[in-house]
Amino acid sequence: MERENRREKAVAAVAAFYRGFDPKEYLKYNYTPPRADFSRSDSIVPWKLNCLHKAFNEDAIKGDILVDVGSGPTLYQVMSGCEHFNRVILSDFLEVNRNELNKWIKDGESNFDWTPYLQHVCELEGRSSSAWQVKAARLRSVVTDIFPVNVHDPNPFPPRSLPASGADCLVSSFCLESVSPDISSFTDALCNLSSLLRNGGHLLLIGALGESFYMAAPDVRIPVVPLDEAQVCSSLSASGFDLLQLSVYRLTPDMLVGVDDVKGVFFAKARKP
Ligand code: SAM
Repeated sequence: MERENRREKAVAAVAAFYRGFDPKEYLKYNYTPPRADFSRSDSIVPWKLNCLHKAFNEDAIKGDILVDVGSGPTLYQVMSGCEHFNRVILSDFLEVNRNELNKWIKDGESNFDWTPYLQHVCELEGRSSSAWQVKAARLRSVVTDIFPVNVHDPNPFPPRSLPASGADCLVSSFCLESVSPDISSFTDALCNLSSLLRNGGHLLLIGALGESFYMAAPDVRIPVVPLDEAQVCSSLSASGFDLLQLSVYRLTPDMLVGVDDVKGVFFAKARKP
């Protein structure tokens, strides 16, 4: 009981930091050059887009419903997957991020220009970059919902958001380690995610390695659980996933732009048995 109370307080303390999350600043810190430089294969964003592209195209992960957990204000993580699923569901804990996503999906407006991202993913798919508008239209047409989510809740989504059997595939990027107070809470959050996925479905998990904080606005420093590869593998296994692939990206010195202390990025492809 005492342990549970301590856990609840620690989770609430992390949630309190998120009151200061500024989508515009977060996008500027992480989704502009040098971290999103499409002329460089050693830039973080092209590396992530390539991992996602390969999973959906070469490994033929496809189905009816793709769910992105903890989307934040970003869309890059579903730009490959949207071609392989009938429905894409986005989600975030914060209304400010859900509104930011809605602006692009429903109103066609956004504070952020996703065009170079769409163009790059079109090129990965062997299409001309000028097909980006076709991809943008596809993404807008398959996103059916943007739900609130809390990965610390055993039922992270509102009731009846998903079919009882669960989604066919889950994507989650930089969410669990940056909303969990410690490694056991990270592992429990993975178990909660598993409840959203059908048996045999895939999880594509992207996250930070060796990171202890990130900036979510000029004065908002959010604590992060510093993970290593072994911890990612053991948390996936403890939450019942079969790990199929783990790829690691190490940051080059010029990617360290003072907005966090991340050392690397992992991409894990796992399956719920
Ligand atoms: N997925 C995006 C990306 O790849 O950049 C955003 C990652 S951002 C570091 C972490 C996200 O987790 C934020 O959008 C935040 O609102 C969301 N978040 C905070 N608390 C959460 C919770 N308890 N459950 C789910 N998501 C949460």
